[in-house]
Amino acid sequence: MDHFLYRDGVLHAEDVAIPEIAKAVGTPFYVYSSATLARHYRLFDEALEGLDHLVCYAMKANSNQAVLRLMASLGSGVDVVSGGEYLRAKAAGFPGDRIVFSGVGKTREEMRLALLGGIRQFNVESEPEMVVLSEVAVGLGMVAPITVRVNPDVDAKTHEKIATGKSENKFGIPIARSREVYALAARLPGLEVIGIDVHIGSQLTSLEPYEQAYLKVAELTETLRADGHTIRRLDLGGGLGIPYEQSNTAPPLPVEYGALVKRTLGHLDCEIEIEPGRLIAGNAGILVSEVIYVKSGEGRDFLILDAAMNDLVRPAMYGAHHDILPVIEPEAGTEQHPYDIVGPVCESGDTFTKNRAMPPVEAGALVAFRSAGAYGAVMASEYNTRPLIPEVLVHEHQFAVIRPRPTFDEIINRDTIPEWLEGSA
Ligand SMILES: *Cc1c(COP(=O)(O)O)cnc(C)c1O
Repeated sequence: MDHFLYRDGVLHAEDVAIPEIAKAVGTPFYVYSSATLARHYRLFDEALEGLDHLVCYAMKANSNQAVLRLMASLGSGVDVVSGGEYLRAKAAGFPGDRIVFSGVGKTREEMRLALLGGIRQFNVESEPEMVVLSEVAVGLGMVAPITVRVNPDVDAKTHEKIATGKSENKFGIPIARSREVYALAARLPGLEVIGIDVHIGSQLTSLEPYEQAYLKVAELTETLRADGHTIRRLDLGGGLGIPYEQSNTAPPLPVEYGALVKRTLGHLDCEIEIEPGRLIAGNAGILVSEVIYVKSGEGRDFLILDAAMNDLVRPAMYGAHHDILPVIEPEAGTEQHPYDIVGPVCESGDTFTKNRAMPPVEAGALVAFRSAGAYGAVMASEYNTRPLIPEVLVHEHQFAVIRPRPTFDEIINRDTIPEWLEGSA
């Protein structure tokens, strides 16, 4: 249930017809459903009911200010991975004590920013980072609350570019070395150890890797406590997958994930944090695009869209699948036609999908990419001087542009000509 449904033969976002938005903002654009975002947050919140917990939305999935404001208003925490994200979270209204700072390469400047602005905890990922964070905190006369991200060496069985919990990945410290790393943390004057962090990857479609990882975390909790450390918070990361293909078997539900958390870690009397991103935002957004041309090729037809890899890079970057459907509902029994669906960018990689069967569409028709709310707009670029496309938020029968399309002048005038080239053309 994601609030993008056909009504009277026209695709709607909640109570708003997609063509109405297209008319107001032009194509292509992203549109997000408030009700879906809220629903997904609540599913996680309810799944952990009975445990002391905080859902910390991983804002790298979709960091628009309006989306963040909505999440903050629901009571969510937030997981940030850069100083920029930290500032965005603060600007959207998250108090410091609901902001968690993750990431392998935090700089001194980012640490200072978060310490001064208020932070729930840093999830530190290496010994050198610990030493630097302690120095920065001591310099400010502060103590930084930390968990250490451990790498449990489990196979998340997901795409290699988004697996993070194997020993060959750059993330966290090997779980086998935890005791010495925690001992170092305890000796550093600017740090207060409060817990353990683990995040094994993204788009997980089975609970089994979580189970392996969380059992290791449970054991580590006991070991570290026996060593004299305070372990009162467990950050379990994010990564639960979403059904990108409606025809495929669905990944586990938040409620099943919650039951697993309770079963593996519930007895430890720890506060539980989780950091879902994709599952909250992914199916809460679609990308709407217009067909520019239908071009007949050798043995295939190309659907050339006005959206491209710079707007939605997941297919080019991960070979990701997005369901694509016409905005005007085809009549029942319409025969499907195979298309290669591509954008106008000058790269063969600018191909969303090949040989995709869908109802026939003509130039001027609108199509919608499902599951585009996470890792869509945030990964966009202006390659080929294609302006970042607008983002729109729907709430029941209302919609608002939450990021406008920049003008070409705005894009061009961001560049500056050095003095020695002035007047040369
Ligand atoms: C990316 C990331 C997440 C969110 O992952 P999803 O697959 O979007 O749920 C959570 N925690 C950390 C540390 C991350 O890097």
